[in-house]
Amino acid sequence: MARQTAGKTVSQIARDKGLKYFLISFSDLAGVSRSKLVPARAIDDMVGDGAGFAGFATHLDMTPAHPDMFAVPDTASLVQLPWKPEVGWMAANLVMDGAEVDHAPRNALRRMVGLAAGRGYRLKTGVECEYHLLSEDGADISDPRDTMAKPCYDQQALMRRYDVVSEICDAMLELGWGPYQNDHEDANGQFEMNWDYDDVLVTADRHTFFKFMVKSIAEKHGLRATFMPKPFGHITGNGCHTHASLWNEAGRKNLFHDPGGELGVSKLGYRFLGGVLNHAGALASIFNPTVNSYKRINGRVTASGATWAPNTVSYTGNNRTHMVRIPDEGRFEFRLMDGATNPYLAQAALLAAGLDGIEKETDPGKRLDINMYEVAGDAELGKLKVKRLPLNLLDALRLTGKCRMLREYLGEETVTAFLRLKEREWDDYARHLTQWERDTTLDC
Ligand SMILES: [Mg+2]
Repeated sequence: MARQTAGKTVSQIARDKGLKYFLISFSDLAGVSRSKLVPARAIDDMVGDGAGFAGFATHLDMTPAHPDMFAVPDTASLVQLPWKPEVGWMAANLVMDGAEVDHAPRNALRRMVGLAAGRGYRLKTGVECEYHLLSEDGADISDPRDTMAKPCYDQQALMRRYDVVSEICDAMLELGWGPYQNDHEDANGQFEMNWDYDDVLVTADRHTFFKFMVKSIAEKHGLRATFMPKPFGHITGNGCHTHASLWNEAGRKNLFHDPGGELGVSKLGYRFLGGVLNHAGALASIFNPTVNSYKRINGRVTASGATWAPNTVSYTGNNRTHMVRIPDEGRFEFRLMDGATNPYLAQAALLAAGLDGIEKETDPGKRLDINMYEVAGDAELGKLKVKRLPLNLLDALRLTGKCRMLREYLGEETVTAFLRLKEREWDDYARHLTQWERDTTLDC
């Protein structure tokens, strides 16, 4: 279904499409989708007033003393669930006491989109959401024959999961997302599906819906899908590489493209890149928001010869060993984000850092045309003037906490709320006794 409601009420659309129920859905700070299931008879009222929630019961920075929070659906985001066509899904904006909740991720992204528009810019992005298909209990990959040491693009393993992959791709075709390729990725049991890039808010809504859809269709087939950054220590983790280009406000001219620029990228593009590289350490907790995320970034190279994730703040041309790749003229591939990143906050933070780079005319430094996985040790990195990414979530959160740019762009409330949630998560993890500690410390 298109993102236009063409002047019809949602209940009229429900009659036309045979929709019996609607999910009014929002993403909390942890990226969990929360919903109410509303029968079609009540949907027009909900479109006006929103569906009520107790915000503190989700991963938002609220207490039981806060008043009701309302999720007001954005009708332009309406999607008919391809695997359950009697249900519609709408992304919602959070409101409390008649004002938008500042730290609600979709609101934060909408604010950034508005800010960019005020400067004459429109960000377009595409995301590559990798995922693993696991057995129903989540214990192992679902295909016991998928054991190749270099399984990337393995045709046999891909086709053993044809029923799931094609059902998801058919759904994207039906939704008009423009899917164009699906493959078995570098880890056993891992897949990636690509669809067309679009305006940043459209991509964030689709990213959110894609995760819901992949998990739902996998469940239908008796499997479990995970976007966990590093579900298995010895094989490649789940990234969410993000391709980005900045356009003029009308969306017709790619301002990153300059055929005369280095690798076909404009001066403006390099400043945007400079902003992202300059703030990479502070962005990491948003792009890599879980304890587990840092096992992907700092993972050992797998049998394929790469971790497929960066561990340094550097950029390059068409080379997959850096944080940023310039795969083609007029766009960047940001390779830091992982499967746990909040689809809205990731885009909002990327846009914030890029706009800051443009404003401050930040120089991204020199492009490195080397294999970064072969650079060993801090001395060599120092010679190249390249910084390391944070080694764990706590280091990353500390860098986010110190970043004035993020507070200025995303807002004090959003950054504070995110840090509070994530610091609690770190504390919880730090108190958790692991088998590794027992194995290495019992005989101390
Ligand atoms: Mg990939």
